[in-house]
Amino acid sequence: MPELPEVQTIRDQLSAYMPLKISSLKLSEVAESIVHTPLVKLRGQVIERIWRKGKMLVFEISDGRKILSHLGMTGSWRISSTPLKEKHNHIQIKGKCGDEVFYLSYVDPRRFGHLYLYGEEDAQKKLAELGADLKSSEFTFDYFKSALVKYPERFIKVSLLDQSLFAGTGNYIANEICARAYVRPDRKIKSLKGPEIVALYHAVDVVVSGATESGGTTFQGGYADVNGDRGKGVQHLVVFYQKICQMCAVTPVKKITLAQRGTYYCPKCQK
Ligand SMILES: [Zn+2]
Repeated sequence: MPELPEVQTIRDQLSAYMPLKISSLKLSEVAESIVHTPLVKLRGQVIERIWRKGKMLVFEISDGRKILSHLGMTGSWRISSTPLKEKHNHIQIKGKCGDEVFYLSYVDPRRFGHLYLYGEEDAQKKLAELGADLKSSEFTFDYFKSALVKYPERFIKVSLLDQSLFAGTGNYIANEICARAYVRPDRKIKSLKGPEIVALYHAVDVVVSGATESGGTTFQGGYADVNGDRGKGVQHLVVFYQKICQMCAVTPVKKITLAQRGTYYCPKCQK
């Protein structure tokens, strides 16, 4: 599933093709399971720029409206100079950047992604459901600590996955944050000591920055960037999908299920 580093990579790559003046829009026959609002009056409008909050991409339209795009499990945006020949292409925006024609295509084999076209107020409301973005200036230590201790009875990893607290996390990031902080993901939040909370906060940056600099992380058959290429972030993983812990290099990684998600930790390194 695309998490913050993957969504950021797509944002950065798409931004090179903005502003894009929309000349046509085409939806697949099953696009209505992804597109939740009618995509009206977009022809002739310009996508001015794209930014991101958590895992939500925000396309700013010249008339003040915004397209909000969440990639779900398997969604991605592709850029091409000819119409993309791909089976699961559900939204195709043809447009012009400068004098060149580009096709901006939303590809999503499993169709768990979501797309909305909203006016300013509704867009703000939707984005306000998300907590502080892990890469934003709002994401301070004080913010992190108060958001984390809000639910003391929860397992650490469960709160780390909560988008209303920490926008941009996902399963691999949450596992890796716990590993880099040397704490087990299945501990209760109320058991954390002060230095462990500090370690978790610093681990967020290590994990998110490492993966973003590698162009995101691709697992089997998953995420691809705007050119259809895979990210190289796998090299940074220390416990997630690993047989041996990459921190101590000797201990077999333990896999458990926590809140229905595969959860990995090193029984030696993580307390
Ligand atoms: Zn270890």
